[in-house]
Amino acid sequence: MARRTPPDLEPARAGRAQALNPFRVRHPTETTREDLARRASIREVVFGMQDGLLTTLGLTTGVATATAGAAVSHTTILIAGIAGALAGMVSMGTGAYLAAVAERDLKQAAIHQERAELETQPQEEHEEMVAILVESGVPAATAEGLSRELARFPRLWEQTHIEKELGIAGTDQENPVRDALVMGVTFLIGSVVPIVPYVALSGIAAVLLSLGLSALALGAVGAAKSKVVGHPLWRGAVQVMGVGCAAALAGYVLGVLMPHVFGLRLPPG
Ligand SMILES: [Zn+2]
Repeated sequence: MARRTPPDLEPARAGRAQALNPFRVRHPTETTREDLARRASIREVVFGMQDGLLTTLGLTTGVATATAGAAVSHTTILIAGIAGALAGMVSMGTGAYLAAVAERDLKQAAIHQERAELETQPQEEHEEMVAILVESGVPAATAEGLSRELARFPRLWEQTHIEKELGIAGTDQENPVRDALVMGVTFLIGSVVPIVPYVALSGIAAVLLSLGLSALALGAVGAAKSKVVGHPLWRGAVQVMGVGCAAALAGYVLGVLMPHVFGLRLPPG
């Protein structure tokens, strides 16, 4: 007959497993960090979409207005919108990539230099740490001892310098490719909304529908942004919608002015 474990032994066993492997216990700061990281990526998604929406809405509205009354089919505006969206995706994606690479290189160089200094000039580094601690409100005598104590633990010593002196968190991790993909893809998704009406419509109907759809999408993006940062939803919705309408208005005005400024004369339709 197979021996069965009495159910009341299970919790004890789980407790023992945890005692044998203390790393299974989640550190209290772990969830906070994960939560922050998740919020940060939602923020990137929201900003990428907002950018794609605004840029493309301004572009299509501008082109549609500039060519209004001329023999320009909605396909032309559609092509302009798609070209702008693709160019924007590439430009935003590469921009995000380069920015992340630059930031990573800058941090790595600073960390590298700090490590070298800890190695070559321990006395100066000790005085630096004392000064930092005093600045944080630790009495001078205590700071002296605290710095010496910290220096006994090389990893903590290095981490404290990097965090306190350089302001770089140990958890900071740039991922240029991920940043580029998130920015490019969300920009493209946002761009689709103002373009869609030009698939079938032209003239003022297309402009108005593009504006209406984009305003709704911007409102949704703004509300999502508010949710991430913990503001009332309406605030973000109104704010992003307002900026969107201003961008569309700018596109409209530029579209009206452009033919005059550049002396462009399109054949009347
Ligand atoms: Zn230092």
